[in-house]
Amino acid sequence: PAALDTILEARHLVKEFRGFRATNDVTLGIREGEIHAIIGPNGAGKTTLFNLLSGFLKPTSGEVRLSGERIDTLPPHQIVRRGLSRSFQISSVFPTMTVRENVLVALQSPTPLPHQFWTPLSRLDSLNDQADRILTDVGLADAPTRLAADLSHGEKRQLEIGISLTQNPKVLLLDEPTSGMGSEGVARVIDLVRQVARGRTVVLVEHNMSVVAELANRITVLQYGSVLASGVYDDVRRDPRVIEAYLGD
Ligand code: ADP
Repeated sequence: PAALDTILEARHLVKEFRGFRATNDVTLGIREGEIHAIIGPNGAGKTTLFNLLSGFLKPTSGEVRLSGERIDTLPPHQIVRRGLSRSFQISSVFPTMTVRENVLVALQSPTPLPHQFWTPLSRLDSLNDQADRILTDVGLADAPTRLAADLSHGEKRQLEIGISLTQNPKVLLLDEPTSGMGSEGVARVIDLVRQVARGRTVVLVEHNMSVVAELANRITVLQYGSVLASGVYDDVRRDPRVIEAYLGD
C-alpha cells in the first residue's frame, strides 16, 4: 500500500507493444508537493510511463491511481478533470493565435460544465484575468498580444506550461521542459518549474542532470522499462547500479 502522502501511484504497470515490454512492472509513488524527476537512458521507457500516467496509453496490466482512485480506466480528458495534466514535448500551441488567445482557448475548451458551452460576458472578464495571471506565472506577462508563432523556442515551452496550468492541475507532468534550450533558457525553465510547483506536485522527464539536481526532491531511474532505483536524489545518485547504468559518464 502507498504512503499516506502519495498523490500519484503506479502499481505493477506493464505496457507491451507487440510483445515488447516498454514498461515492465513499474511500481512508483509520487508524493504530494514534491518535484519528482524520471530519468534513464534513451529507450528506458520514460515517455511510455508518462503516457500511461496521463491516460494517453492504456496499460497492458497494472494500475494508475490519483489520490487513491484508479484513473487508468479513464480517457485523458477525464484524468485532466481529476487534476492531472501534462505538457507535451511536441508543441500544443496554436501558432496563428496570440499568446493570450492560446491561454483563453485552453481555459475554455476542455471545461466539463455544460453551461460553459458558451461564454457570458461577465465570465469573459474573469477569463481574461485568469489568462493574465497564468501568463504572469509563466513569465509571459509582457507578451499577451504576440503571435505564438513568433515566440522563441523557450517562450513556446513557457506558453505550453501555461496552457497546462489552465486546468489548475494538482499534478503536472512535464516532458523534457528544457529540451533544445541553451543555458539561459534552461535557467529560466528551472525558475518556472519552481514557480509552478508551488502548491502542486510536478513530475518531469529530464535529460539534463544539472536541472534534475537543482529541481528534484526525489528521482526514479528507469532502465529497460523497469525501475532501477527510486528515492531522494542524493541517495539514488550514489547507488552503484545507477552509476553503472546511467550516471557514470
Ligand atoms: P524513452 O522515453 O525513455 O526514450 P520510450 O518510452 O519512448 O523510452 O520507449 C521505450 C521502448 O519502447 C523503446 O524501445 C521504444 O522503441 C519502444 N516503444 C515506445 N513506443 C512504442 C510503440 N508505440 N510501438 C512499439 N514500440 C514502442
